[in-house]
Amino acid sequence: MPTHETLSERRLLEFMGGLDIIDCHEHLPPEAVRTSQPQDVFTLFSHYCRHDLFAAGMDRDTYCGLNVWGVSRPTYESLFDPALPLEQRWAVFQPWWEAIRHGSYARAAILTAKLVYCVDRIDDTTYHELSERIAAENTPGIYARMLGERCRILVALTQCGRMDVGSPLVPIMPAGMLADVGHRDAVERLAAGVGAATPADLEGYLAVVRQQVAAWTTAGMVGLKFMSRHYASPDPKAAAAAFRQAMDGHALPPEAQHVLQSHLTHALLDLCAEFDLVAAVHAGIWGDFRDIDCTHMLTLAPAHPQTDFDLYHLGMPSVREAIVVAKNLPNVWLNLCWTHIISQVQSRSGIDELLDQVPVTKVLAFGGDYGRPVEKVVGHLAMAREDYARVFGERIDRGLLGLSDAKDILKLWFRDNPLRLYRRLQVLQGK
Ligand SMILES: [Zn+2]
Repeated sequence: MPTHETLSERRLLEFMGGLDIIDCHEHLPPEAVRTSQPQDVFTLFSHYCRHDLFAAGMDRDTYCGLNVWGVSRPTYESLFDPALPLEQRWAVFQPWWEAIRHGSYARAAILTAKLVYCVDRIDDTTYHELSERIAAENTPGIYARMLGERCRILVALTQCGRMDVGSPLVPIMPAGMLADVGHRDAVERLAAGVGAATPADLEGYLAVVRQQVAAWTTAGMVGLKFMSRHYASPDPKAAAAAFRQAMDGHALPPEAQHVLQSHLTHALLDLCAEFDLVAAVHAGIWGDFRDIDCTHMLTLAPAHPQTDFDLYHLGMPSVREAIVVAKNLPNVWLNLCWTHIISQVQSRSGIDELLDQVPVTKVLAFGGDYGRPVEKVVGHLAMAREDYARVFGERIDRGLLGLSDAKDILKLWFRDNPLRLYRRLQVLQGK
């Protein structure tokens, strides 16, 4: 760890190290999914590092435009093939590591190697030892050890498309599972899952959607996940026609799809208010990020004044816009999940600017945003704490903020605000 912090930063780091926190966003699956698969050094490069590897040129020959999810990545995927010798995989990976190892995604991996596995760097001389230590740690209880013991995480809100996640994970389900009506089969399965007959029309489908949201909520779901994009205004007539078309087995043209998805999204946002669920909203970064910019919230949030919106990732790269969205709208909170590993510099300038503009009751400090590499939450959290210590420490040193006020705000952001916003968590926590 760096040893050149100021005294104020050290005090704040010490304070944050003793704070119980709510992890406001992960993609972690049930623990058995992780422990049933072999793990090695490449576990540390799974999830977000792949995007830097891709941008650096790995699997360039499969590049087919901006669709980050549709691209096949045979070279990247081969890094995780345990049938191939570790040395062979490392030889493929090493030149690419040189290209990405100075970025924030990589820093989380390097810090995790250091903090969790006591390996000071990741290179030709350490990858064997690191692989052995990662494999040895991959046993039942790893979630409690990484999240609970090392990070003091009381609860981690996770999105993995499953409800059976197990403590300390608490599920948020994708709204798309209900709003994106593709095919009759999927509608039949959904209806059967809640014990209903296959709906004949849109009205019937909305009843099924409501039953599903109720069932998930009873089972412990605390929010639904949306995207910050342009949705058409609700249009019952056009949406009903599109639904009928889908149920007749026709592939929906894009306009009809948009009308139906928009209509159902608005209905789901109203259900969030009714069931005391939070509408978590992704904004920014992926693909053509203009389509999923945080400024779409300026239309969406006022259209649902009773719904609470948790706007993710500080809207990166539209950080300033996200801050003003939360400044202007009383039903939008800012969630700094993922941000610290996208860019620490952008996170810190964002934190500093939002302190000027947004009530301290509307900020959520941390979400690791990882799926497979649970140990990287440790590295990510260390980076988040650095960012808060730097920004708050500088304000303290300039006489703009008192130490005890700084501690109060950090406690709000890491723990109390998430518990206030996600009211169903308090029920789960028995508070
Ligand atoms: Zn995420």
